[in-house]
Amino acid sequence: MENIAVIGAGTMGNGIAHVFAQKGFKVQLIDAQTSALEKAIATIGKNLDRQIAKQTISAKDKANTLANIQTSTSIEFGVANADLVIEAATENSEIKKEIFASLDKHTKPNCILATNTSSISIGQIAAATQRPSLVIGMHFMNPVPIMKLVEIINGAATATSVTEIIVALTKTIDKIPCVVKDAPGFIANRILMPMINEAIHAFSEGISDAATIDQIMKLGMAHPMGPLQLADYIGLDVCKNIMIIMEEGFNNTKYAPCPLLVKMVEEGKLGVKTGEGFYKY
Ligand code: NAD
Repeated sequence: MENIAVIGAGTMGNGIAHVFAQKGFKVQLIDAQTSALEKAIATIGKNLDRQIAKQTISAKDKANTLANIQTSTSIEFGVANADLVIEAATENSEIKKEIFASLDKHTKPNCILATNTSSISIGQIAAATQRPSLVIGMHFMNPVPIMKLVEIINGAATATSVTEIIVALTKTIDKIPCVVKDAPGFIANRILMPMINEAIHAFSEGISDAATIDQIMKLGMAHPMGPLQLADYIGLDVCKNIMIIMEEGFNNTKYAPCPLLVKMVEEGKLGVKTGEGFYKY
């Protein structure tokens, strides 16, 4: 594997491009918006500067990393040489299916197609292509340059050889792969999101204030961040959507999003990205 294409240059896409480019892969970073590409390159530059300040990389490493990234607004042009495409576009199944149908047309026949989806079924995305055995989930954690886990999700049709290639590749970028089956929320969000949702229930019942709920989980469970603060960082809209996908996928109301979570999303209180969630930013 030499050439990686990343679709979507937002929060996750810029981090994914960063870690592959730093390890010497040639990366095509593709987004529908030129402004997103410009912002992504600026963010990668800033994050590389932080690594220089921490003396984990040199100025030459920064230059080499940036030189390994090319940007494009065209899927057709950007993916033609790719050995692997990692899709990190907006969490919307229609958008993802459209992207995968296009990738199927414009990539080499043996190119592996991965998705960074947080919750959408890999099988559903793979069905938009004629190569479901080459489609797999590669669920990176935010912020990508720092977090070690990559949850690897096998669709029902994913070939064993494809999983083996992706597991080995994940190790070459100094991440730790954990392989799971395709099910609503996979493992990470299936366990994390109900915890966050329960914290919101406790908060809405007035059992304690947000800072105390977070402090209890930080001190008592050794979590680096409390559930309400984490929800603000993830985005309350994202948390709500993942709960709905699990509620529908398991046909079980135990996954229903807390009414307060739904209300906050309706009010536009989405957390850090809008300046207010359980805390103000
Ligand atoms: P984001 O909104 O920051 O970025 C998405 C980008 O995709 C935008 O720049 C948008 O312009 C681009 N895009 C949309 N449609 C496109 C298309 N058709 N072609 C090319 N580009 C397109 O989103 P994000 O937070 O980076 O999330 C991306 C994916 O990663 C989602 O599937 C999300 O569920 C998943 N994810 C997010 C997090 C997180 O903490 N944010 C963590 C793990 C996984």
